[in-house]
Amino acid sequence: MIRIGLTACFFHPDFDRNLFKGKRLLYMEQSMSNYCMRNGSLPLLLPESHASISVEDIVNSVDGLLLQGGSDIAPSSYQEDFLDQEKWPGDSHRDIYEINLFNEALRQKKPVLGICRGHQLINVALGGSLYQDTSTQNKSAIEHRDAELYDGLNHLIQIEEKSHLADLYKHIKEARVNSIHHQAIARLGRNLLVEAFSTQDNIIEAIRYDGDSYVYGVQWHPEFHIPGDSFLLDPDPLFLDFLQAVKTRSLNDS
Ligand code: MN
Repeated sequence: MIRIGLTACFFHPDFDRNLFKGKRLLYMEQSMSNYCMRNGSLPLLLPESHASISVEDIVNSVDGLLLQGGSDIAPSSYQEDFLDQEKWPGDSHRDIYEINLFNEALRQKKPVLGICRGHQLINVALGGSLYQDTSTQNKSAIEHRDAELYDGLNHLIQIEEKSHLADLYKHIKEARVNSIHHQAIARLGRNLLVEAFSTQDNIIEAIRYDGDSYVYGVQWHPEFHIPGDSFLLDPDPLFLDFLQAVKTRSLNDS
């Protein structure tokens, strides 16, 4: 069984909460775990390192790393001042936890797939920056998040010619994806290539690491797309590609 280490979303200690009052909770979103299992891999929620179990031990125990979506990334994680700390504080605690896991996965050459926040996290971990709020900082940007529509909001993306994504989705140059993000990549991180961008405003929607390890990020949520539904981009080729990289890596290892 292929074991995919899934990074957690966090509920930080909250004394106004009745359940687990004042305690920190780490959780996974179920469409994401189903996305892993539908494609033949077991998602394992990764804890924070503690006591004698290091980040190295944790990454050692899985075959690949999947960075799921969720809260904003804190501007401090890419050395920027807050535009509005009240509105967009981000989650620097989770950023540190995930950047450590990402760096270790890169060191161990374990494949990494980043979804939405995960795509942005890869960029930040490799020295890039984000729009703290896309519509405030990029006036030409279309709306990439709608609280009411949620994953019902979608837009077109252009797939870069001769990219890895173009290989995966042969004969598809333009596709429709959901969009649930108000942050986006501003300055691209080290050794990252743009694989797809939003048709109307050029916002970066997919990235790939140009190095000796498989690292891929998408700004949309493939786990919310329905396989075989022709309206939105088929979610499964992307995950199967990640799993193929995991299998190749595991074979080399043994
Ligand atoms: Mn988008």
